[in-house]
Amino acid sequence: MDLVLDSAVFLSGRMTSMPSGFDSVYITELVRNEISRGRPNMVLQNLLELGLKVRGPSGIEGAVEAARSTGDLDLLSETDISIIALAMQLGNVKVLTDDFRIQNVLKSLNIDFEPAGEIGNRTIQETWEWTFRCKGCGRYFDERPGQDCPVCGSDIKKTRKRSM
Ligand SMILES: [Zn+2]
Repeated sequence: MDLVLDSAVFLSGRMTSMPSGFDSVYITELVRNEISRGRPNMVLQNLLELGLKVRGPSGIEGAVEAARSTGDLDLLSETDISIIALAMQLGNVKVLTDDFRIQNVLKSLNIDFEPAGEIGNRTIQETWEWTFRCKGCGRYFDERPGQDCPVCGSDIKKTRKRSM
């Protein structure tokens, strides 16, 4: 299986190392063009040396059509469309993206995706599940115990728990 990376995973600083366990890892030419400076560019250059591949999708019509049919087309950038188009072209692929509109279109195409998450430098195989944590006393709850903590009355925050 191949992996396609969204530009946001670089720009947000979440992508810091080469994801392992994939045949090839790709970005589109438009994604590369969006990452031109600073630390994200340093990370990108490093990943290119490690074998990250840059490819422009051969056609975007199918991706445009898919985005139109889910109602996401107006909200997707040309770069977003290129990511979807490349994923369609590659076939056996997963897309790393936090963008709900991209995810929505991918879902309609039965293409696998995974959010990059909020913490950098972790491998793609990790999965996350939700837990609830009290901002006051720090207790964890498997299910939301209500608006306020039953112990100390502070706000409850939904948070990610590392599950694997
Ligand atoms: Zn509490």
